[in-house]
Amino acid sequence: MQIETAPEPACMAERKRIALIAHDNRKLDLLDWARFNRGTLAGHDLFATGTTGALIENDLGIPVTRFLSGPLGGDQQVGAAVAEGRLDFVIFFWDPLEPQPHDVDVKALLRIAVVYNTPIACNRATADFILSSPLMTLAYARYAIPEGEAYSRQGAPA
Ligand code: PGA
Repeated sequence: MQIETAPEPACMAERKRIALIAHDNRKLDLLDWARFNRGTLAGHDLFATGTTGALIENDLGIPVTRFLSGPLGGDQQVGAAVAEGRLDFVIFFWDPLEPQPHDVDVKALLRIAVVYNTPIACNRATADFILSSPLMTLAYARYAIPEGEAYSRQGAPA
């Protein structure tokens, strides 16, 4: 396997751009986590889907840039922001026990986060590990899956 062109790294600054999303049955858990981590979160730029963002902003008093509500396209907007390098990581408390009307959007967001090598925490323990990482206060170069020709060559014999 040979990759001819190295992908460009996406650089995370010390101040991170964090997206927060919670499905309805997980909103109180995310709110509790956000309250506990208010001091850390206040030092970064917060983004969220509509209802989650309103909840966090009202409760914590921290400004949150809001996308549309998840079922109305908010998860897709978060995915687009990940693809365009406008977010550094995602805290996504999705509900594993109930079907959602926007299941396909949820899957698309999980996929695009992997494509762009973007940290995505889907439960509280992972969110704790991300937020307590020493990398939270450092710049970080994040390489995504290489695109186009370089990617298709990975499977070809050298
Ligand atoms: P909401 O969307 O924050 O607008 O509730 C979350 C989701 O269901 O993906």
